Amino acid sequence: MQMTEVRDKLQALQNVLSEKYEIEKNLRDAPKQLDAQNELLARLQKEFLEKNASYDECKERVLKLEVELSEAEKSREEGEKGMDNIATHREYEALDKQITEATQKEAEIRKELDKEKRQLNDLSESISSDKSIIDATSADINTAKASIEKQEKKFNTQLEKLSKKEEEVRQGLDNETVEKFKTIIQRNSEGIVAVKNGVCEGCHMILPAQFVNEVRDGDEILFCPYCSRILFYQESDENEENYYAMAEAGSLSDFEDYLGDERVDDDEESDDENYEEKSSEYDEDVDETGEDLDEDEEDSEEEESEEN
Ligand SMILES: [Zn+2]
Repeated sequence: MQMTEVRDKLQALQNVLSEKYEIEKNLRDAPKQLDAQNELLARLQKEFLEKNASYDECKERVLKLEVELSEAEKSREEGEKGMDNIATHREYEALDKQITEATQKEAEIRKELDKEKRQLNDLSESISSDKSIIDATSADINTAKASIEKQEKKFNTQLEKLSKKEEEVRQGLDNETVEKFKTIIQRNSEGIVAVKNGVCEGCHMILPAQFVNEVRDGDEILFCPYCSRILFYQESDENEENYYAMAEAGSLSDFEDYLGDERVDDDEESDDENYEEKSSEYDEDVDETGEDLDEDEEDSEEEESEEN
């Protein structure tokens, strides 16, 4: 297959994949539309349960107070009945005390009971109002769910079509390239970019001249060493080749560092020697700078020793 054909195919594949990934993202995000409503519902339901528990507690207090009230009533009535059969003043005093205390207690309990019954009533009203809000919210959520499911169905239909299209478009491209290409698109959205004026249009890094030539020759698919995008050659708008040739030389060492262990050539040994020389020079520079920063005295001492 001609490189231009490969390029066209990759660009077509890119269009399909971008659309596909966008839809997949929408599909993932669709249920999130319900997040706020679900949170609200959960909060309402929690409050509803808490109120119901309060209602039960209140109800229990009311029942207890009612029992106490009937006991106090009974005690008062017994006292009143006993008054008919008293024989001594002592008995009278005891019964009178019983009646007074029971009457007082009755009054206290009635007061307390009124309060609790009012609270019970308030809770009951609040609970039934909460219940209708919960029902309305649940209904809203169900409506929204139905609409989201409809959306999802539409997205899935679109995805099916795009997957078929993807299969058509990728015909003739090897699997490894396609898989690599997909990863790049998922990360960078654009997987195939031009090399223009020796610069990768994807990451704007200056590429080595030799590498740019290989891209121009188009014998194989080449990936940007910096951003991994697939590259194709595009003629520069202006004739600034000399300028770019100079700029490219500057970035060549970066490029070789990037290649790292993959680079095996005869010059390697001498390259390493050069590197060591350079790095030892560099170390000295660093030491001197370090001392400069620390103390001026040491620096002058060193200058003296250098003179000796
Ligand atoms: Zn790049």
